[in-house]
Amino acid sequence: MSQSRVWHPFTQHALEPAIPEIVRTDGAYLHKADGTRILDAISSWWVVTHGHRHPRIIKAIETTAASLDQIIFAGFTHEPAERLAKALVDLAPSELDWVFYSDSGSTSVEVALKMALGYFRNIGAPRSRIVVMEHSYHGDTIGTMSVGARGVFNAAYEPLLFEVDTIPFPAPGREQETLDRFEAVSRDQHAAALIVEPLVLGAGGMLMYPAWVLAELKRIAEASGTLLIADEVMTGWGRTGTMFACQQAHVSPDILCTSKGLTGGTIPLAATLATDAIFQGHYSLDRKKTFFHSSSYTANPIACAAALANVEIWQDESVAERIAALGALQAAGLRRFRDNPCFTDCRVTGTIAALDLRAGSAGYLAEIGPKLRTFFLEQGLLIRPLGNVLYLLPPYCITGAELDRLYDAIEEAGERFGLKP
Ligand code: PLP
Repeated sequence: MSQSRVWHPFTQHALEPAIPEIVRTDGAYLHKADGTRILDAISSWWVVTHGHRHPRIIKAIETTAASLDQIIFAGFTHEPAERLAKALVDLAPSELDWVFYSDSGSTSVEVALKMALGYFRNIGAPRSRIVVMEHSYHGDTIGTMSVGARGVFNAAYEPLLFEVDTIPFPAPGREQETLDRFEAVSRDQHAAALIVEPLVLGAGGMLMYPAWVLAELKRIAEASGTLLIADEVMTGWGRTGTMFACQQAHVSPDILCTSKGLTGGTIPLAATLATDAIFQGHYSLDRKKTFFHSSSYTANPIACAAALANVEIWQDESVAERIAALGALQAAGLRRFRDNPCFTDCRVTGTIAALDLRAGSAGYLAEIGPKLRTFFLEQGLLIRPLGNVLYLLPPYCITGAELDRLYDAIEEAGERFGLKP
């Protein structure tokens, strides 16, 4: 191939000159041009749920593309969007009644933030502070970086980011501190919204916290009139063991963001779900109260059809059972690491497992990360550590034998790169 002109995301091209080309995907595998294959242990950035190219989703894409492509969504509608919205309202926590489409996790969060501020302004009680949780990640746009952890990812753009109030991550033993801080902040600042990743903070290091903390955060938010935004971009579609992570805490947020697994990982689509109160806040004979947001590809019919096929797979193919089985395999697989001195912690929530290597540090720029990534890739495994945090977030079709291969490789990585105390 002649010299590539592609600028890749989160890639330092000076240090990663040879970028492998993938020519085909199926199930849990990426296939390279040279005929070798790579086991995708992170579902290609957490999007692939059932496995690559699930036939029902591919068929829905093909069938829909034969009759519908893109349709301007301001002033027009189409059946895939209408049916999908109804399906999402049925599947999501009970208080969510309205679906606003966009095209990536980041845009679904931007929409959520705008809905929250628009709501308060429209009801004549403006609020503008956003409360965020330490170590969170919500995307790479200016707004989503503002509500995410500050650090190397966004240092250059700091002057453009808006101010937020941060509550501590509810690490074991520190849960009350988080709740107390949120109580104080929501009272003092008159906060518009708290945005959280429910149960698992993904890019921040696969940090996990218990469902009761989320329930308490919702209780405090409600008491102070602060909206709760659940960013389920990563945690949705079964990742934490239930369809949405909020459901484990019996919490219905005011706004919920979903993307990634929404189309089973085939094609970009996102949705922001909101309560009727938030919709009604924008429903008015006064045009100034319109929700002023759009993107050109809002509610792409082909993407909506892919998402509908994903919903049908959930209904017809015992996905919940598969997820429960995968969660049990992950929990069992991590047992062998509990007494392994090369790891300082291992944890699991639903289908997600994470281990902290006793070497280097967490975080994207920690030198250990790329070394580990190369080590795994040489064995045909796609594991993309967050610094010293190794995690497995596999497609639900992965087998026990394939998981064992991953645990074996992680154990070997521990021996090779981990430090003994
Ligand atoms: N929110 C969370 C919790 C995420 O994990 C991500 C991406 O990893 C995003 C938002 C941003 O999604 P996208 O990359 O589709 O813009």
